[in-house]
Amino acid sequence: MTDMLKGIAASDGVAVAKAYLLVQPDLSFETVTVEDTNAEEARLDVALQASQDELSVIRENAVASLGEEAAAVFDAHLMVLADPEMVGQIKETIRAKKTNAETGLKEVTDMFIAIFEGMDDNPYMQERAADIRDVTKRVLAHLLGVRLPNPAAISEESIVIAHDLTPSDTAQLDKNFVKAFVTNIGGRTSHSAIMARTLEIAAVLGTNNITEIVKNGDVLAVNGITGEVVINPSEEIIAEFTAAGEAYAAQKAEWALLKDAQTVTADGKHFELAANIGTPKDVEGVNENGAEAVGLYRTEFLYMDSQDFPTEDEQYQAYKAVLEGMNGKPVVVRTMDIGGDKELPYFDMPHEMNPFLGYRALRISISETGDAMFRTQIRALLRSSVHGQLRIMFPMVALLTEFRAAKKVFDEEKANLLAEGVAVADDIQVGIMIEIPAAAMLADQFAKEVDFFSIGTNDLIQYTMAADRMNEQVSYLYQPYNPAILRLIANVIKAAHAEGKWAGMCGEMAGDQQAVPLLMGLGLDEFSMSATSVLRTRSLMKKLDTAKMQEYANRAITECGTAEEVLALAKEYIDVD
Ligand code: PEP
Ligand code: MG
Repeated sequence: MTDMLKGIAASDGVAVAKAYLLVQPDLSFETVTVEDTNAEEARLDVALQASQDELSVIRENAVASLGEEAAAVFDAHLMVLADPEMVGQIKETIRAKKTNAETGLKEVTDMFIAIFEGMDDNPYMQERAADIRDVTKRVLAHLLGVRLPNPAAISEESIVIAHDLTPSDTAQLDKNFVKAFVTNIGGRTSHSAIMARTLEIAAVLGTNNITEIVKNGDVLAVNGITGEVVINPSEEIIAEFTAAGEAYAAQKAEWALLKDAQTVTADGKHFELAANIGTPKDVEGVNENGAEAVGLYRTEFLYMDSQDFPTEDEQYQAYKAVLEGMNGKPVVVRTMDIGGDKELPYFDMPHEMNPFLGYRALRISISETGDAMFRTQIRALLRSSVHGQLRIMFPMVALLTEFRAAKKVFDEEKANLLAEGVAVADDIQVGIMIEIPAAAMLADQFAKEVDFFSIGTNDLIQYTMAADRMNEQVSYLYQPYNPAILRLIANVIKAAHAEGKWAGMCGEMAGDQQAVPLLMGLGLDEFSMSATSVLRTRSLMKKLDTAKMQEYANRAITECGTAEEVLALAKEYIDVD
């Protein structure tokens, strides 16, 4: 049966491959009394061995794609499996209670989990509890003969289907095999979408119910440019999608010719085109795509890929690698932005009704709980500053006093390092993200104290429109071209320029081809986007005239009432294919 679905086009690219369902199977079972306990023990041994073999493969794949450190979690799992005390107790329970292997396993592991979890104040023990829970699931799956999904073990061309993908699930996808992913929920600015663009994996999000319609092994045709997904496509549809994929590849080849070119408009004005990164490994893509700077390094991924808070030295190494990789070009590092859809397994965050409006980002950093973690990060950044052109920015600033508190930590730690005889660059710019409407409105006051602004439209739009960026039901409100958003952006750029400061943008809007002309017209200085959007943006800017874009943007913010009117007006000013 051929079925067609439409979702949110979240990452460009076209793919035809088999579906791989990343959904949790049913692991429920019945407790039964057994006569032959030897047979149950033997079943347990087989399941333990199969789990061990599977984990070894996953571990090897993780080492290859993410490095030794990120694979450490699988070592911990292997250790649990090989723990003679635990395995002995499971077998003992099977014999004593004459019960099935599933029950023996569950009873004993539940007991161990309860003991470890009871040691509240010991994060190491909490982690062990989490390891045992994970391993139990794997062994149970083998006992029940069901398959646990594992994105890191995909080893043939596939399209991953999931209800949602967390940023860490996405990081595990191997782009050599995963050609696309399709989810039930999520929007263009959810972090899995942003990572898909960095990894150059096609993605369609927010289809509502793809996981209910598609079975493992169904063939899917996915177009991440249009948001179309066809299940079990006909030969004609496969040919159509393949042709679309080839056209996209040809267009990319044309953009690639601009890799070493300057970013100049038709009338010769220069704009800075920068790229957003999540890990030092992404720098390669930044350079391959000819970006002139890193405009946003999301450092929270350093925390998320780790088993514990990264040390000052680990962070220093990461920042140094990025600065050196960029060879003297500017690198804007954002201090950690945990919270919202980004959680740390080892950091006990309060459960909140509205995490995007809660305790996150700078709010954590300047709180008593976050102070030590924040100082560690600032010190690592300061130490790295001698390896390139470092710029630091703080996320989620609502109040001027929040900026001052963070800047005070920067000043204090700089003084401390200098007193310790550690070299620190003396030209580090310190700026803020503008992603809360209050800061956008008060930009004139902020501009007196900061060195630069970087507008985070992913959050700025969600907060201005009061529409969750992760929720596809309200994705119609995610309107970058709405005059309300454009007026806020205009206000921020004007305020920066009045104080001789620069204004950039690192939200996804900066790489949106329909937004770029407006942003050029509003005078944005720096555009930071997924590395994969840099070349097409350079190609677009080359065709546009600044004075014309100024007139267009000015009319958009003074005459238009809706996003549709703004886009209709574009036709009078832009004539590019
Ligand atoms: C933003 O909010 O626009 C932004 C760039 O930050 P993040 O997407 O990481 O919240
Ligand atoms: Mg943000």
